[in-house]
Amino acid sequence: MQEILNPADETVVATVAHTTVEQTDAAIERAAEAQRGWAALAPADRARLLRRFADAVDGAVEELAQLEVRNSGHPIAQARWEAGHVRDVLEYYSASPERLFGRQIPVAGGLDVTFHEPLGVVGVITPWNFPMTIASWGFAPALAAGNAVVLKPAEWTPLTSIRIGELALEAGLPEGLLQILPGKGSVVGERFVTHPLVRKVAFTGSTATGKRIMAGAAGGVKRVTLELGGKSANIVFADADIEKAAATAPYGVFENAGQDCCARSRILVQRSVYERFMELLEPAVQGVAVGDPLLEATEMGPLVSRPHLEKVASYVPDDTDVAFRGAAPDAPGFWFAPTVLTPARDSRAATEEIFGPVVSVFPFDDEDDAIRFANSSEYGLSGSIWTRDVGRAIRVSRAVEAGNLSVNSHSSVRYSTPFGGFKQSGLGRELGPDAPLAFTETKNVFLAVD
Ligand code: NAD
Repeated sequence: MQEILNPADETVVATVAHTTVEQTDAAIERAAEAQRGWAALAPADRARLLRRFADAVDGAVEELAQLEVRNSGHPIAQARWEAGHVRDVLEYYSASPERLFGRQIPVAGGLDVTFHEPLGVVGVITPWNFPMTIASWGFAPALAAGNAVVLKPAEWTPLTSIRIGELALEAGLPEGLLQILPGKGSVVGERFVTHPLVRKVAFTGSTATGKRIMAGAAGGVKRVTLELGGKSANIVFADADIEKAAATAPYGVFENAGQDCCARSRILVQRSVYERFMELLEPAVQGVAVGDPLLEATEMGPLVSRPHLEKVASYVPDDTDVAFRGAAPDAPGFWFAPTVLTPARDSRAATEEIFGPVVSVFPFDDEDDAIRFANSSEYGLSGSIWTRDVGRAIRVSRAVEAGNLSVNSHSSVRYSTPFGGFKQSGLGRELGPDAPLAFTETKNVFLAVD
């Protein structure tokens, strides 16, 4: 059993039972059974049920949002966006069952066709930072491709996933097809990795756990998708709209209190505009509305837990590198003020993923210097480039080693475009039109014609 705390006031909002290994095994077997029936349905019928699931989520957007505020401390406006995103992801992939086209390939002596066969049971393991959106990136395309899903939410934030599992049943999805198994990574998550009936593990979380899962999956040559950490660069060139770059920089890193794998946690500013940028950044950071996540105007809530708060605080042990800070409530709850550092390029704060509202700012000399420093990280998930020079925008976008770049904005995630990381930020891609294919095997069939 685990007590689930409200990060904004430390009160207990729920108690959730942890799934045992035996219960996990039984759930995987039920999923395998349900998957056979699901894959046998006509694609149009699978599509219809997924649309009904999307409708059920649509009807529960406010309920899910309120639940996420209490479980994760997300500001209510953001939580509403997240619940709506789950609906949108389901709607988007409800078109896929009828569009998993194979190919007919010209060969001699017969007819050759390919099929995209479902894998069977897929294990989805999610982190605590965006509990419901990341869950949907796994289960929606996996179900659309004809698989069953067992999903393990993060220990601290299982409530919205549990409710989404109930909504799937209310919408008429077959029993066993999407099962939510709250529990420990070392128990439920590891069992997904070792159980022979789980054919793929779609994991989002830390790079350390991702490596462990990849190593464990090797034993069964199990498919994995890994969405891991980040230390993304926000590169501001002197020719950019500096006012806009400074005004938006806090939202590129402090959204979700910096607990975002795409957080632009390194701001690189061309030396000639560095001072001006810092002058503009300070009021922008101090203007971030930090506080009660149930208030509509709140832009940043608390961190998810006390251990995480302590981890974030360890990156700011004193005021040495602090340029300035925003505000945070002095009250119960896991609060940490938005903080801007100017550390050395090789410091711990500048190189490690903090996953909190702490950003480091560095001056750079020229395009080469900016690219070299941006690429010096072991991560490569996202990044932003601010410039008015189209040639530079394209050159730098091509040179930065990251899976998701935005020019003159901080946008990383759209359900209709692929998402994932270079280097130690991950393996494979989620979202976009091809995501269901990642939950299939390509089968080639040759039919001899005499
Ligand atoms: P985590 O790795 O500690 O946990 C993630 C999930 O893995 C949890 O459900 C956990 O219970 C489970 N887990 C833990 N040990 C396991 C094991 N041995 N086997 C199987 N499962 C196990 O990560 P976290 O602290 O919950 O999440 C934060 C991390 O997630 C950050 O590093 C962040 O960058 C990353 N993240 C990445 C993306 C992305 O898309 N790239 C998105 C969100 C978060």
